[in-house]
Amino acid sequence: MDGVRPEILPDELERIISIVRQHNRWRRLETINLIASENVMSPLAEAAYLTDMMHRYAEGKPRKRYYQGTKYVDDVEILLSELMKRLFRVEYVEPRAISGTIANATVFKVLADHGDKALIAPVQAGAHVSHTRYGILGGLGIEQIELPFDMETFNIDPDKAAKMIREMQPKLVTLGASVFLFPHPVKEISEAAREVGAKVVYDAAHVLGLIAGGKFQDPIREGADIVTSSTHKTFPGPQGGVIMTNSKDLYKAVSKVVFPVFVSNHHLHRLPATAVATLEMMHFGSEYAEQIVRNAKAFAEALAAEGFNVLGEHLGYTQSHQVVLDVRRHGGGAKAATLLEEANIITNKNLLPYDPPDAIKDPSGLRLGVQEMTRWGMREDDFRYIAKLMRRVVIDGEDPGRVRREVVEFRREYSRIHYTFDVDVDSLSDLKVPMLI
Ligand SMILES: *Cc1c(COP(=O)(O)O)cnc(C)c1O
Repeated sequence: MDGVRPEILPDELERIISIVRQHNRWRRLETINLIASENVMSPLAEAAYLTDMMHRYAEGKPRKRYYQGTKYVDDVEILLSELMKRLFRVEYVEPRAISGTIANATVFKVLADHGDKALIAPVQAGAHVSHTRYGILGGLGIEQIELPFDMETFNIDPDKAAKMIREMQPKLVTLGASVFLFPHPVKEISEAAREVGAKVVYDAAHVLGLIAGGKFQDPIREGADIVTSSTHKTFPGPQGGVIMTNSKDLYKAVSKVVFPVFVSNHHLHRLPATAVATLEMMHFGSEYAEQIVRNAKAFAEALAAEGFNVLGEHLGYTQSHQVVLDVRRHGGGAKAATLLEEANIITNKNLLPYDPPDAIKDPSGLRLGVQEMTRWGMREDDFRYIAKLMRRVVIDGEDPGRVRREVVEFRREYSRIHYTFDVDVDSLSDLKVPMLI
């Protein structure tokens, strides 16, 4: 054996392995994960992810690379683009953006120059940091102007927004958000944008899996010029990004900017895994998205019945994978999220539309997403039970350690990922680097 004998392994090595094992066991097997921006891949997609492709380079477009050794990478990149075109019914797909942020950077750079204006969803209403002056939009020197938000409908005000677009004449308008309960008024905004020659960018990072399943909105058909997204939130792929459009000109411009401006290597092991996730969505996406929306509604209703202040009651709470709570009267978002973590229920604190922007460290809200637990097979009754566990920790002030034991036991019943193909993943072990648990 070429390796080092076990007795002289450095302590740090044992520590690394131990940290990874602990993380895997905790986050994968023992916690109820309600982070709205996360998900897990199927074992099949993981097998297609942990491959030699993670070590390779393939700058450029398929069949026109700057490197040798890419013929299979080319095949899989072309296949992925074809599958995504079919799933989302779009003409052009650019899969090389390595994250949602890089997808936005690419599209913003194509559509606007330094000093141009962009209209965005208000920050407190869930605009992603990349849409703002603090993120990539500001980094590119594009001016951020917030669209008017209507607290009653919990949405962008379509009439006021159209008026603002006509007055301000921006180069682009971003829709889509990180707090995203109800579909945005894409149609009305796209009509106004078209009049002034502005392009509408729909950021689907959170809801791509719901769009894939036909259960949220269909931004391209409603008039958006281009869709940017992550591939790992409700869409259950590896962490990555994608850009989609029906405009050949936009596609060409985007492809010229993603590489070489924002990406050199595009993290090639993402490609086959994203293709597996795309196929899963083609076959099981509708059923998966439907269950997500049902679970989110049941969860919201149950949380309200347990005594939580759930946003959007008069609107039916949610049409997405998210549920948003105002936990000010229970000590605020930071305290609630910390207590829940001690009970192995993982959530994040979040600004609410009526919070001041500087409340970022201790906002009023808690953002919850049901997508990952839905993939582990949980249904409405399971979310009713989780609502009770949350009440005990956040409202009743019960010892989180006691609740944690129940969480670990409950979680044990959900050990198989649903909405995927029935394939013996062990037969693919020649592809796969085993996971440390
Ligand atoms: C998460 C998110 C992003 C960023 O995606 P990354 O892949 O994490 O870079 C962009 N836009 C929205 C609306 C998001 O929620």
